[in-house]
Amino acid sequence: MISSQFQITTRTPDETQKLGKTIGKWIEYPLVIGLSGDLGSGKTVFVQGLAEGLEVPGQYYITSPTFTLINEYPGRFPLFHIDLYRLDGISDLEDIGLDELLYDQAVIAIEWAKKISHELPAEHLALTFEITGDDYRTISLIGYGHNLDNLIKALKLDENIVGKK
Ligand code: ADP
Ligand code: MG
Repeated sequence: MISSQFQITTRTPDETQKLGKTIGKWIEYPLVIGLSGDLGSGKTVFVQGLAEGLEVPGQYYITSPTFTLINEYPGRFPLFHIDLYRLDGISDLEDIGLDELLYDQAVIAIEWAKKISHELPAEHLALTFEITGDDYRTISLIGYGHNLDNLIKALKLDENIVGKK
């Protein structure tokens, strides 16, 4: 069930962070956000902005939870930041307790989400990051579910977001 999609090319880390912040501000209910794309493509930078938009206090500096698999931050919703780069199989996933997290009132941002695409809830936001130049990142968003259709529409109308296609 694809509701709508949107593509943007950011030209600085700041622009990618701002996209995350805009989406974070928009979030009014628990949501899963799957992030895919090569190392260094901007997934963590995006989550830093997302955290800002969710009002995670500035003293938390968000880095990839590559070794911890999961970090939690307080905000308007609890933000769980998961990185599956080193995921070694289903037992790791069970350690994370993704199933239980999905029933929490939380925002869950998952790097390398494609590794578990079949485990994601029907309603989620999927972002794919592509390195298209030294500082250019082409980011494709797909909103699965009708609530996310509204987000994509809002992003398309938001004049502060540059680089839209
Ligand atoms: P990932 O989590 O996908 O591995 P990171 O977000 O940790 O990637 O790192 C992205 C790197 O790319 C950072 O060093 C950042 O400064 C750099 N960068 C350059 N241009 C951009 C851009 N337009 N958007 C995001 N990051 C960018
Ligand atoms: Mg990362």
